[in-house]
Amino acid sequence: MRSARCDVAIIGSGAGGGTVAQALIPLATQGRRVIVFEQGGRLEQAEFTGIETEMAESLYEDGGGFLTEEGTLSLAFGRTFGGSTAVYSGTSLVPSARVIEAWAVPGLTHEDLVSRCERHAANNGVHLLPPEQINDNNRLFREGCLGIGLEAEQFPVNVRGCRGASLCNLGCPNGAKQGTDRVQLPAAERGGVEVVTRAEVRRIGDRRLVIRVERPGPGEKGAASAWPAGEYSVEAPIVVVAGGSVGSSALLLRSGLGSALPRLGEGFTCHPALILVGEHEREITNDVGHPKSYYLDRSVEERFVLETCMYFPFVTAKNLTGFGPDHSTMMRSFRRLQMILALACDRATQGNRISVDRSGRPRVHYRFTPEVREALAAANRAAARIFFAAGALRVHAPLANPPLLARDEAARIAGRITATAFIPGKTSISAAHLMGGCGMGSSPTDSVTDSWGRVHGLPWLRIADSSLFPDSLEINPYLTVMALADRTANAVLEDAGRLLANRGTGLS
Ligand SMILES: Cc1cc2nc3c(=O)[nH]c(=O)nc-3n(C[C@H](O)[C@H](O)[C@H](O)COP(=O)(O)OP(=O)(O)OC[C@H]3O[C@@H](n4cnc5c(N)ncnc54)[C@H](O)[C@@H]3O)c2cc1C
Ligand code: SF4
Repeated sequence: MRSARCDVAIIGSGAGGGTVAQALIPLATQGRRVIVFEQGGRLEQAEFTGIETEMAESLYEDGGGFLTEEGTLSLAFGRTFGGSTAVYSGTSLVPSARVIEAWAVPGLTHEDLVSRCERHAANNGVHLLPPEQINDNNRLFREGCLGIGLEAEQFPVNVRGCRGASLCNLGCPNGAKQGTDRVQLPAAERGGVEVVTRAEVRRIGDRRLVIRVERPGPGEKGAASAWPAGEYSVEAPIVVVAGGSVGSSALLLRSGLGSALPRLGEGFTCHPALILVGEHEREITNDVGHPKSYYLDRSVEERFVLETCMYFPFVTAKNLTGFGPDHSTMMRSFRRLQMILALACDRATQGNRISVDRSGRPRVHYRFTPEVREALAAANRAAARIFFAAGALRVHAPLANPPLLARDEAARIAGRITATAFIPGKTSISAAHLMGGCGMGSSPTDSVTDSWGRVHGLPWLRIADSSLFPDSLEINPYLTVMALADRTANAVLEDAGRLLANRGTGLS
């Protein structure tokens, strides 16, 4: 095993890790060695081809289909330079005061989070797209909402020079989306922070990491790592874990920290989501234009959020309930399909958690509560009404039985769509907003860290990612992840003098 030293090790390069990397430039400038270890590869711009199967394999954990233990929910999260920000849609919302106050984390205020979110939003070029860049799918959603007496809100998005390729979830082929791969990580590297890709942190000991660096496989996209392949023992007096909700929890659990931190892995939430489609008479420009411009927030009234979306043929086929002629007819009308994503605002619930198997691989346990099933049914009903109000001929609603609703059934939606049609394992459901596992709070009995990402009882160990959420956020989370990571980085800078005392510049 080879040995190496650094002053600060950051594990993961996504929304959290990238933010910390940029914020720690002052340490690198002082001659401290700051390294980001990312298990995924780093792709060249030309390698973002937009081809569904090849990009899913290159950018996501398990190709985007990580299954929960119960086999009833698939989780999408990134495994690449930039983490999930390489595949997110870039919708950029600030958290609500209602949710942050309900989290009741001592020392965490809504005001502080919002000001940090706003700074990152400005840095990432967040803005509202002008009307000429709103495509039919989004226009129809807005019209449909108005048709049923509800006002959709426009998503601010973080794009610069968006060419409307609609491929955001496969990695932007035009370099327009301002994820950490485009903004924070390149800035950090210019400031002297190192990024080592294909470097999976296997375990964390006392200020020491065990890391495995891999070569790219035959035909695999992405450059080789900056470090030769092999096993490394890396000394790091400060360790910031930012492997995402599942990755961070699994790493800490397989490192044996669970006994001192009984809440580790607990409190997992994910906004479980379903795709609905409405078939129109004419073609809809959905595969052209930014895919996500509008949303309808019903989190307070009915515990769901509806968003516009554009899913690729494979994902759409997988998500349409049913088989045979009905399924095939819907898929043949792909170019005439309007699409809506329905997300439930789930709550941290006992039993929904992350664990590891004997080899240290993450396992996610998730059961749908009656409240989540009801929220998804209400979301299906609202989406069906929106489709019909926008002029759809037929609607495919996974929680209708049978799932296809004809236009003349529009008045009977309440009876046709119910939570009883939700059959775990048969109803296709997925999630991309993974939260919790290393939640913030006041002591080890209720949490893993304090409100500044300091792990209870281990002053050298910090968390800076979506695993910090003590409960679900009820909106798209990346800006809040960045704001929390920013707080963790501030605390690292504050404590660095003490934690790095008696060390040289750390260069090995
Ligand atoms: C398809 C999709 C669309 C989304 N769209 C939006 C959106 O429009 N707006 C929004 O607000 N949010 C969106 N999200 C959610 C958002 O991307 C995430 O909430 C956010 O990126 C989470 O940040 P993170 O730092 O916690 O984890 P990630 O960004 O997932 O980064 C974690 C990184 O850590 C690495 N890692 C994990 N374990 C290890 C280890 N042991 N060693 C080394 N590296 C490790 C992983 O490979 C990964 O690259 C979307 C997510 C997905 C998947
Ligand atoms: S819609 Fe814009 S941001 Fe998304 S992939 Fe296309 S060019 Fe990139």
